[in-house]
Amino acid sequence: MPVQGQYAEVIVNKAVKAVDRTFHYRVPERLKSQVEVGSIVFVPFGRQKTAGIVVGFVPEPEVKDIKDIISLISPCRLLNKDLIDLAFWVADYYLCPKISALQAMLPAGLKLSGKGVAAKTVKCVFLTDRNSGTHQEKLGPKQKEVLSYLREHNGCSVAEVLTYTGAARSSLKSLIAKGLIETSDREIYRDPYRGRNFTLAPPEQLTGEQQAALLAITEEYESKRRPVLLFGVTGSGKTEVYLRLIEKTLHQGKQAIVLVPEIALTPQMVAIFKSRLGERVAVLHSGLSQGERRDAWFHIAQGHIQVVVGARSAVFAPCFNLGLIIIDEEHEQSYKQDSIPRFHAREVAKERAARQNALFIMGSATPSLESYYRASTGEYRLVTLKNRIYQRPMPKVLTVDMRQELKAGNKSIFSRLLQEKLIERFHRKEQTLLFLNRRGYHTFVSCRNCGLVLKCTHCNISLTTHEGNRRLNCHYCGYSTNVPKICPQCGSRAIRHFGTGTERVEEEVKKLLPGARIARADADTTSRKGSYDKIYFDVLKGKVDVLVGTQMIAKGLDFPLVTLVGVISADLALNLPELRAGERAFQLITQVSGRAGRDVLPGEVVLQTYRPEDPVLSAAGKQDYVSFYRSEITGREISGYPPFAHLIRILFTGEDAGILEKHGVIVSRYVRAEVPENDEILGPAPAPIEKIKDRFRVQMIIKTKDLKKTRKSLVRALELAAQDGFPQKSILMAIDVEPLNMM
Ligand code: ADP
Ligand code: ZN
Ligand code: ZN
Repeated sequence: MPVQGQYAEVIVNKAVKAVDRTFHYRVPERLKSQVEVGSIVFVPFGRQKTAGIVVGFVPEPEVKDIKDIISLISPCRLLNKDLIDLAFWVADYYLCPKISALQAMLPAGLKLSGKGVAAKTVKCVFLTDRNSGTHQEKLGPKQKEVLSYLREHNGCSVAEVLTYTGAARSSLKSLIAKGLIETSDREIYRDPYRGRNFTLAPPEQLTGEQQAALLAITEEYESKRRPVLLFGVTGSGKTEVYLRLIEKTLHQGKQAIVLVPEIALTPQMVAIFKSRLGERVAVLHSGLSQGERRDAWFHIAQGHIQVVVGARSAVFAPCFNLGLIIIDEEHEQSYKQDSIPRFHAREVAKERAARQNALFIMGSATPSLESYYRASTGEYRLVTLKNRIYQRPMPKVLTVDMRQELKAGNKSIFSRLLQEKLIERFHRKEQTLLFLNRRGYHTFVSCRNCGLVLKCTHCNISLTTHEGNRRLNCHYCGYSTNVPKICPQCGSRAIRHFGTGTERVEEEVKKLLPGARIARADADTTSRKGSYDKIYFDVLKGKVDVLVGTQMIAKGLDFPLVTLVGVISADLALNLPELRAGERAFQLITQVSGRAGRDVLPGEVVLQTYRPEDPVLSAAGKQDYVSFYRSEITGREISGYPPFAHLIRILFTGEDAGILEKHGVIVSRYVRAEVPENDEILGPAPAPIEKIKDRFRVQMIIKTKDLKKTRKSLVRALELAAQDGFPQKSILMAIDVEPLNMM
């Protein structure tokens, strides 16, 4: 059964359209036993040498003068046929080069540079065979101690033996001379959690709802094996359901992947998985070094690790024996990558699970409209957890109309109700979370005379002030400038600061609650490694009375002492010019509300808004997902947006607005000529954010019912345009299939 023919099909490491196909190479005799599908190799390419990935073998090469593979880059295989096929699916679906999809499957430390990140080796000590019998040598007490230590820890590092026995190197040397021990270099696994103990006891008993959910999921697995949407309110115990499913998967000898939003990879999450699954689980988060990530990846591929918990890219983990994929908080936007390949981890996971016949679970308290819609049509199996653990009540939401506050003469950013509750919680020594979607101090500066809003000259985005340096900053490009004293447009001195950022909220709390311990979690305070963890543990240990923060505090945190959540401005998220603005606002408010009253103390939420009558906010106020879904899905159906159609966004950027516009129009003509007649094309038109970092932005959006057909015709249209030289080199074109962000 010669799987390996003589000639390898290789995809080379060049992300260009022209070479987005396989090239044939001869496998030299000396590499025959090593090169297989998935091998990363070094090959000659034109006059250069480049890395490439073996994706198959052919008996006959397509060309006469065939070149040899030069060498094997990585001895361990991180890709197999299944993953390569999945990469091809990604490339086809998201319209990107195959090599880009393949690269996404390799750990960051092993980009195809021609050399992998080196494995780390250490000198280890082993007992020799001579130890099994009795030996006559006279041994010193330290030498005896070394041997007895090794009987328990054979193969440990030299450093470890020396430390634990207190022996000197000379003792080891004489033991080696006597032939009782030997040393050799061993590759080690840089496990960041090595030696740490996690002890979190599993719950004694599943709730009735959890049991019923597990039963339904098992039944689905044994029958139709549709994707499962686990719709469970915040605090309903979804994680425990996941853990049981994982344990079952391991029992069957298979591997599991658990996807969570990067932001949810908290120490708490790590502890839950580590305490239950121990060494069998690798938790991949952005804080890992390249070496640690590489090691984890290799250990997964070798089957030493059975469970992978990680963010978006973990969907490509080299689990060659996959039985289960779970995606928690499936509605989260961060699952969509905003650089090539622009894949959505949920869609890739669904595809991968289907191909591997694995069980696929999507969990959320606020499912994406798409997923809930598919569950309602029967494409997915819907499994529901309606109640919180121990029947703990959902937090009570109190909506405050901020227009009435203003009328009553309250100009503070806190309503009277929120002030009252903040004070009450402080006296009761309970904790409060204050949530605001904006960092910084004020959100914008404008002229009261002419209405000019000060914007970044490079980005067309309003500038934000920061108390720390009293300057104006751009959150997109980092540009900063002094606050002008007079308006650059009309010369008036009536420059005012408007809006509120997290910094300002923090300061207002200080004024309201003198002596309170306040912490702030946003992109500004958590940029340093470990700073988020510190804030997190301070809150958990009760060292913080009020935590002010952005999205970062909205999700997944489980603080038992938090009994009050204040949403400073519910309107902020709602006002974005975005298709999904309503959906995101609902999700955000529900998630942040779900942080209150998770333990024995019941929770309350104060929701401040200028539009209490908005259907999204009123549904959020009642914590009623289904009524939110009903109103939102109707709107989508009427306007023909997802999930009733698919979108493809083509974004053009360039430094010259005129040239950009011209090319947008020209390319759109090619597209219009090729795509199916029923497709609707919006634009080209300036994107909502017209300029970022000095590049103007123009976009067109294709709405289609037949994504497959449209993708094909789009590829053809762009090829034809490219042949005629459009768009020219100075213009960048980005294609996003099923975009989430259209700003
Ligand atoms: P969700 O992910 O649905 O928001 P969690 O999984 O965080 O909810 O569970 C909420 C809390 O309930 C956690 O503290 C968890 O340890 C606890 N819990 C889960 N299942 C049980 C159970 N069967 N018995 C007791 N406590 C449980
Ligand atoms: Zn002015
Ligand atoms: Zn800028």
